[in-house]
Amino acid sequence: MVLESNRSRKTARCLIGCGANIGARRQQLDQAIDMLRFMPGVQILRVSQFLETRPVGGPPGQPPYLNAACLIETTFEPIEVLDMLLAVENALQRSRETRWGPRTIDLDLLLYEDCVLATDRLQVPHPRMSTRRFVLEPAAEIASGLLHPLAQCTIGELLENILEPHLHIAVVGIPGSGAPEIADAIADVTLSRLIHSPAPLPLNGSDFLCDNKISPRGSPTEQLLHVTQEYATPLLESQWPNDPHGTVTDYWIEAIRVAAELNTEIKASGEFKEAFASIIQKTVPPHVVLLLNVNRQTLSERVAYRSHAAQQSDIFSDLVAVQAMTTTDQSITTLLTLQEHLAERLLKTQDNRSRPKAIIEIKSDDLGKAALDAVAAIEGIS
Ligand code: ATP
Ligand code: CA
Ligand code: CA
Repeated sequence: MVLESNRSRKTARCLIGCGANIGARRQQLDQAIDMLRFMPGVQILRVSQFLETRPVGGPPGQPPYLNAACLIETTFEPIEVLDMLLAVENALQRSRETRWGPRTIDLDLLLYEDCVLATDRLQVPHPRMSTRRFVLEPAAEIASGLLHPLAQCTIGELLENILEPHLHIAVVGIPGSGAPEIADAIADVTLSRLIHSPAPLPLNGSDFLCDNKISPRGSPTEQLLHVTQEYATPLLESQWPNDPHGTVTDYWIEAIRVAAELNTEIKASGEFKEAFASIIQKTVPPHVVLLLNVNRQTLSERVAYRSHAAQQSDIFSDLVAVQAMTTTDQSITTLLTLQEHLAERLLKTQDNRSRPKAIIEIKSDDLGKAALDAVAAIEGIS
């Protein structure tokens, strides 16, 4: 019995994404797959059809891609699979000059069983796969039922998710992460409906709420629920549009609950929990979340800048919320704690209903680069 389970643990099923957009694309894909086929320790289980797709991200004017997916079984460890893929790419003269530039062959390790890992060299599941139609379509053809361990849904469901008739894309981050700017950039490029947060995120329990001029007077719980209602109104399921352009928001209603939970009193309040749940139940949760992350230094600089500029212009208008806090150090620490909790709620929660299927993490210390990453993630959907 023990021997059986040891032996079965030794082979792993992996999903590989393949692409080529220069040279003899079909031949290069065939060659790459043949090289994998003859590799000791690898067995090819299924290969998808080749699908012609338009390039996403990278320099303009690239030729179209031919994409495919391939399901293998292997005795290799994840890092050994990556090394094998890189070796096959090298054999087919893959060069890396510009990010997302043209390539003779690209082989990505999409899934390795239910393995979740992130090192400098390798991240599994592939961090950008869940908004890429050119990845999910061939993958769903051969492995529709395969489970994505972070999304906790299948490849088929990930594809269905991005094929929703009117997508809700939420850019999620703490004040100072640049969520409004990134949401603007996406809406510009995709001609989506754009909804900015109707009120600043309630940041630090009653401290913030006393100063929040938008909410009427009332207990902290009442005020939080008032903000929740304002966030919910544009997202009501009963009024959800059905045009194909989609809606981009620069907030996530759940962030109110995450922020509120930093305040133990509110966290414990049954009244808040119940009323919050009944409000969000009527809204359309995001199909795709772009989760922004900033480091302490960038955040400090942006917070320091806010007193100077935030009130006179629209730039970093979300930082107005930080004004309610007393000292900069305190506000930075609170914001970073909230950032951590937001990421945890999105990536680690077991609650399937509140977790969006597609979550793409984006570093937003450089807003220009973050906007390019965000736009590429969203363009991958169509
Ligand atoms: P993308 O990763 O967005 O599809 P790309 O395929 O063009 O972009 P590459 O230049 O091929 O990116 O890869 C850059 C590095 O990504 C590789 O050298 C590898 O170390 C790293 N990497 C991290 N995770 C993976 C993964 N799951 N599969 C393949 N490469 C990975
Ligand atoms: Ca790739
Ligand atoms: Ca790659």
